[in-house]
Amino acid sequence: MNVKIWLSKRASVPSAFINETRRIIGAENVSTKECDLIAYSLDYWMYGVFLSQYGSLPSLPSVVISPGNPQEIQGILKCANKYKVQITPFGGGSGVLGGAIPTNGSAILNLQRMNRFISLDEMSLVAEFESGIIGANLELELNHRGYSMGNIPQSLYCSTLGGWISTRAVGQFSTKYGKIEDMVLGMEVVLPDGSLLNIRPVPRRSTGPSLKDLFLGGEGTLGIVTRAAVSVHPLPALTSKQSFVFPSIEMALEAVRKILRADARPAVVRIFDELEAERYFGAKKVTVIFISEGEPDFVRPEKRLISSIAVKHGGTSQGENPVEIWLEKRFDIGLGPTIMQQGGIVDTIEVVSLFKDAANLYKDMLTSMRAVEGSLLVSGHFSHFYREGACLYITFVGFPKDPYRYYEDTWEAAMEATLRNNGSISHHHGIGMWRMRFMEQELGKEGVDLLRKIKSSFDPNGILNRGKLIEDER
Ligand SMILES: Cc1cc2nc3c(=O)[nH]c(=O)nc-3n(C[C@H](O)[C@H](O)[C@H](O)COP(=O)(O)OP(=O)(O)OC[C@H]3O[C@@H](n4cnc5c(N)ncnc54)[C@H](O)[C@@H]3O)c2cc1C
Repeated sequence: MNVKIWLSKRASVPSAFINETRRIIGAENVSTKECDLIAYSLDYWMYGVFLSQYGSLPSLPSVVISPGNPQEIQGILKCANKYKVQITPFGGGSGVLGGAIPTNGSAILNLQRMNRFISLDEMSLVAEFESGIIGANLELELNHRGYSMGNIPQSLYCSTLGGWISTRAVGQFSTKYGKIEDMVLGMEVVLPDGSLLNIRPVPRRSTGPSLKDLFLGGEGTLGIVTRAAVSVHPLPALTSKQSFVFPSIEMALEAVRKILRADARPAVVRIFDELEAERYFGAKKVTVIFISEGEPDFVRPEKRLISSIAVKHGGTSQGENPVEIWLEKRFDIGLGPTIMQQGGIVDTIEVVSLFKDAANLYKDMLTSMRAVEGSLLVSGHFSHFYREGACLYITFVGFPKDPYRYYEDTWEAAMEATLRNNGSISHHHGIGMWRMRFMEQELGKEGVDLLRKIKSSFDPNGILNRGKLIEDER
């Protein structure tokens, strides 16, 4: 094999481990073929993707293991403890921070064979799926029965339910339907020692700290999510679209704040800055789009309420057309791959703050990121709103002399600006490998120490996704 391994050396996994896993799950589901090792060496972390064009991979797994049920995973994890083999869970591989990259030559645990729809309880509005199901297939299963989960990330076609849970993902319709943590009612998890934890689905419980929350954002470090029960919604009877342009980001933010304060809950709210509005809609004006959906008796008054508050706060109606354009382009990843093929770097960063800090955070992030040598473009939009604040999503492009320096400095500038403006360093992409170095600034030393203690008590042999989410103690 002639690929350069850039990030971590390839440690070999004992052949006894590979032979035992073959006995547990069948030889056809355990691969050491070069093509499989290369296919599972990368997720969607942009610097890894950038390097792979030039023949370097961040890391290579020793083996790709594809179990078909939780009992097989239990057997594999027991075996991994016996041989001290590190395991990297892999859902769709669409994570953007390197969380699914098999560092240290670990074994990939590919969950994509566990992709079944299990049940739908129409009375309670709860559906159960295996965790390896791809988002688009999950939605298809529900849509043809008349329902939707309402979690529609841009990566719908390449991410899994287990990945959504493990990264605390958020979909485009989040302002009405909530984020993944609002949707997951119960789950089944194989713990690092191979035992099976079952959290029964109920709307809420008061039985001590929420165990679900250990795995919502666990990034595969504390257990393997094997199935989940999620809340679902009947498909909406009416969808209404409207959009407005505003003289400034500040005015748009204020209008949306007032709309949410008045208890409107549109499914989609997005504020595009001038550059993003020009890219999407062809006009360099701060643009806000809204989609309201549900029963007509709720949707119509909500539409009127949104419109009257938007106009009162300086908005000028642009009708449905910008929303149609956004709906058409919303799964499109644009020119990213072309820019990278020409030697440029493209990436996105999502952070979150309260409304009181949102405009300053936006301006500070743009100024700080644009000041990095090699920067060509930095633009942003706000999406995923709360009554208290919003997620800010920045896209940046550079053509630097030194790609690694540029990439590191731009991220550093963005994270520092976020923390300076009282924001959180991640709203929904998670930490993976690339954001780990900012965790102490985010959580404090005490917070990181607590996560380390939880990790070492769950996983004393450090077999599950080691070196992700929190750095190993130095
Ligand atoms: C084009 C594009 C658009 C995107 N849009 C969005 C978006 O709109 N919203 C959003 O939130 N994110 C988005 N993302 C990021 C990404 O899709 C999400 O983080 C997603 O949740 C990852 O799911 P996955 O199945 O691909 O997980 P992977 O990338 O395979 O894994 C992510 C992490 O979870 C762990 N893991 C995976 N499955 C399991 C499991 N069953 N049990 C335990 N650990 C597991 C992995 O080890 C890794 O640490 C986007 C990414 C791309 C490339």
